[in-house]
Amino acid sequence: MIEKRYEDYSYWLEDAGELLVPRQAMQRSEDVDVAILGGGYTGLWAAYYLLRNNPGLKVTVVEREIAGYGASGRNGGWCSPRFPVSASVMAKRWGADAARAVLLALQAAVDEIRAVSEREGIDACFRSAGTVLVARGAHQLPALRAAYAAYERLGLAERYEVLTPDAVAERVRVTDVHEGLFTPDGASIHPGRLVRGLARAVERLGGKIYEQTTVIDFKGGSNARLITEAGELRARKAIVLAGEAYLTRLKKLHRALLPVYSLICLTEPLTARQWSEIGWEQGENLASMRNTVVYLTKTPDGRILFGSRGAPYVFGSKITDEQDRHAETLALIQRSVIEWFPSLAGIRFTHGWGGPVGMPIDWTPAVRFDPDSRIAFAGGYTGQGVSTSNLAGQMLAGMITGRTTGFEGLPFAQRHSPNWIPEPLRWLAVHYMQSAYERVDEAAEAGRRPPMDAPIAEFLGRH
Ligand SMILES: Cc1cc2nc3c(=O)[nH]c(=O)nc-3n(C[C@H](O)[C@H](O)[C@H](O)COP(=O)(O)OP(=O)(O)OC[C@H]3O[C@@H](n4cnc5c(N)ncnc54)[C@H](O)[C@@H]3O)c2cc1C
Repeated sequence: MIEKRYEDYSYWLEDAGELLVPRQAMQRSEDVDVAILGGGYTGLWAAYYLLRNNPGLKVTVVEREIAGYGASGRNGGWCSPRFPVSASVMAKRWGADAARAVLLALQAAVDEIRAVSEREGIDACFRSAGTVLVARGAHQLPALRAAYAAYERLGLAERYEVLTPDAVAERVRVTDVHEGLFTPDGASIHPGRLVRGLARAVERLGGKIYEQTTVIDFKGGSNARLITEAGELRARKAIVLAGEAYLTRLKKLHRALLPVYSLICLTEPLTARQWSEIGWEQGENLASMRNTVVYLTKTPDGRILFGSRGAPYVFGSKITDEQDRHAETLALIQRSVIEWFPSLAGIRFTHGWGGPVGMPIDWTPAVRFDPDSRIAFAGGYTGQGVSTSNLAGQMLAGMITGRTTGFEGLPFAQRHSPNWIPEPLRWLAVHYMQSAYERVDEAAEAGRRPPMDAPIAEFLGRH
């Protein structure tokens, strides 16, 4: 068997500052208090808060690969109060107070990640530079203004500043900007260093992490357990399912989420001259209002990270390494970098990678624990999981041990999303949505009329 080189899965893992040698695998059945599936942010944050608040609790994490192998070691580094459901849809669905509470709890989670990183000596390269959203092209103005109006309705307008194109250019020089929105909320992090450092913090608190150990099934009830190839991890208090997109590989959860790919391209470090053309001294998180999301960050060593759509959905919710390197998508992202920053024509792209995010059918994350089945779950972050997973970890630890966190009333606590539809309908529906978004964006960018089915795509994608 060829051994995996985990450094190849993302620049962040390559730059994690340590050799990615797997920890020991589980050897035999064991009894613990809490058994956690998944060594990403969700599983590790849950373990961290369980152990920190309850010293002596026996907490074990079981990870198929290595800690940080999944989205947690591959993401765009946005650590922001963004939620997959927009502020206006949250307000319609749950009311303004609940929508505001979600956004404030997420910003508190951003601050908490900084505080824990400092306390635990995790070199997460935390940069509190805020976020700039831009309307690139007049067609993106309505979405930008609607976003601001929604924050105004929630009483959060003082955290957002509308920027003229000149004011945007003072921060960062991007082509075709018609307006911008700045918020000091949100930060960027080094995903690899955060997740690897968090794993070590969990171990220092007495937690156990088994790597190279696959959970093949789980059972709830008075004898709750994770079933692995090496034996059972029986849990007195709870089992936690924190495998995000990869949970779809388990038969019982196959349709709970959809693995949706997001891909990233990274430039070589820019020269001082290149940076002087672009500006972006503060390194704010940067995005446009495109339907097919784009997200940019400036890495700690002065590269541009440009993330966007991923490889097309594969029938049967398959997750493969090939989708991480979908050549056509990576080429498209590289072209986008030059469209945004034409002065970078000819720049070298040193890295391209991707990974699956877990998307529930209603795009709404969930954090829940059922004391009867003793099964806990957190996930479905739909690509917005860096801060949400911290909040989820705090909530899970509270739910499992009966400790009040103040987050019990958040609308995604104790909720369930409906399952995705079976194949082949799922493949048809997802392909339709992916192509419809792209056609809507492409028509708008080329100044063409929207495609006939644009209202259907917009209605289905309203979130
Ligand atoms: C390319 C990309 C860019 C992104 N950019 C951002 C961003 O900028 N900001 C943001 O907020 N979010 C972003 N996200 C999303 C964010 O990274 C995720 O929401 C978050 O990392 C989820 O953490 P997690 O621990 O729930 O899942 P993961 O990090 O995916 O961890 C799950 C872990 O469980 C393990 N596992 C799964 N099944 C099993 C099993 N059966 N047995 C044992 N182990 C198992 C996996 O190996 C994996 O390590 C991005 C995601 C991707 C892929």
